[in-house]
Amino acid sequence: MDLNVPYHLENYIGGNLVAPLNGNFLDNINPATGQVYGQIPDSLKRDVDAAVHAAQKVFPLWSITSVDERFRLLNRIADIIDANLEELALAESNDNGKPLWLSKKVDIPRASANFRFFATGIMHFASESHAMEDKAVNYTLRQPLGIVGCISPWNLPLYLFTWKIAPALAAGNCVIAKPSEVTPATAYLLSKICIEAGLPPGVLNIVHGTGPGAGEAIVTHPDVKAISFTGSTRAGERIASLAAPKFKKLSLELGGKNPAIIFADCNWERMMADTIRSSFSNQGEICLCGSRVLIEESIYEKFRTEFVERTKALTVGDPLDDSSKQGAIVSKVHYEKILRCIETAKKEGGKILCGGNAVQLTGRCENGYFIEPTVIEGLGPSCQTNREEIFGPVVTLQAFKTEEEALELANATEYGLAATVWTQDISRANRVASKLQSGIIWVNCWLLRDLRTPFGGVKNSGVGREGGWEALRFFTEPKNVCVQL
Ligand code: NAD
Repeated sequence: MDLNVPYHLENYIGGNLVAPLNGNFLDNINPATGQVYGQIPDSLKRDVDAAVHAAQKVFPLWSITSVDERFRLLNRIADIIDANLEELALAESNDNGKPLWLSKKVDIPRASANFRFFATGIMHFASESHAMEDKAVNYTLRQPLGIVGCISPWNLPLYLFTWKIAPALAAGNCVIAKPSEVTPATAYLLSKICIEAGLPPGVLNIVHGTGPGAGEAIVTHPDVKAISFTGSTRAGERIASLAAPKFKKLSLELGGKNPAIIFADCNWERMMADTIRSSFSNQGEICLCGSRVLIEESIYEKFRTEFVERTKALTVGDPLDDSSKQGAIVSKVHYEKILRCIETAKKEGGKILCGGNAVQLTGRCENGYFIEPTVIEGLGPSCQTNREEIFGPVVTLQAFKTEEEALELANATEYGLAATVWTQDISRANRVASKLQSGIIWVNCWLLRDLRTPFGGVKNSGVGREGGWEALRFFTEPKNVCVQL
């Protein structure tokens, strides 16, 4: 099938690819070149209304489609994603600026894995039963919610888009989905894949546009029963304020300011390799990246020297070049924000150990948005740099003397998404894990993902959990039936 990205993207509504009703489009920019290379629908309420209408028409049929059939269709989508890995990876890299090798290795394989995982999951999903001795038996039905909204960010575009859509569809819901307006290409290609796979028209509708435009129209639509959102804490707060008075079910996966805690007894080589990865993978634009590196004082000097040396060796370059370890920052706005954060760190008294500047490439990428991987020291837990999410290739180093101090530093933010602990002492690892204010803890590893585990944050990092049964429970309504014997 033809999976080239056309200049004008279209919405996917009622099984058709259609232009926005107002005829307005937004520019789509390749961040590695700084050039406009396409346009995306600037959809508004009327487009969302059309999508909801299409979903309403098919929901009665889709909600009673057998799980075998849903399993077959979702696996078919996964097969087509796998068969078109190269085209999808290229589209993702051009849209987001991430290295092509990374899209091929992580983003696109994970998108098909999401469909396969939830296709299989729904075959095994069961509901509860509670017997009351000889009096009665209760059984709980888990029925689809109806029409649900899925809104995703730009950092792992197809990966996170499908992480929401797959369980929602598997559970028998119809979906109105909106990808980030910054990275719409692979979501558009997914529309074509769903048509090819034979997904019934209206079961999945993809509406492109901005947060305030298309996004809020989805969130406030009276017939959209639930919202699964991944993005910034600020947008999450706005969405919660719009959806809560309408009593919608909400899952919010928000920002992070994750600590990596390194004790002196860690396995040095594994810790070093993974801490470089957890700091700078995807240009640091992963919500799970460890942006505050906390190091036991006795190994601080040794750590700093080697970490800075390895950071300097990370090549920033054209995302299409296999030797580039770091690609472009996703947009000009975000690039400028990261550079401002580095300036703030300097004003706060931070010392730049390496990086700290924009990178000027030549040739194809001369107008792209590139930033050196940056390591900063000398800042305490109360400064803005250590409290606010930067979401770029910027980390700070802080030393600690005791386990208590490590925990105090780690928990000293409003966020609580993920944390990493490096130690060979199993008792300490478990003790620290239990006291960290985070939804996800990795001990002696990072980003080792089992899709069955609950995924999500505490504090300002979100509400609710995705993954495994959590996602299928979120996308179903429990209904208890009590039968007297
Ligand atoms: P963002 O909040 O700006 O946008 C995310 C999505 O929400 C986009 O599709 C956007 O158009 C839409 N949106 C924005 N405002 C909206 C509104 N008022 N109503 C409805 N929709 C709205 O986030 P971003 O800049 O695209 O992504 C980066 C953020 O996402 C970071 O904060 C990062 O930590 C977070 N993130 C979190 C996770 C997680 O699992 N917790 C994963 C990835 C990214």
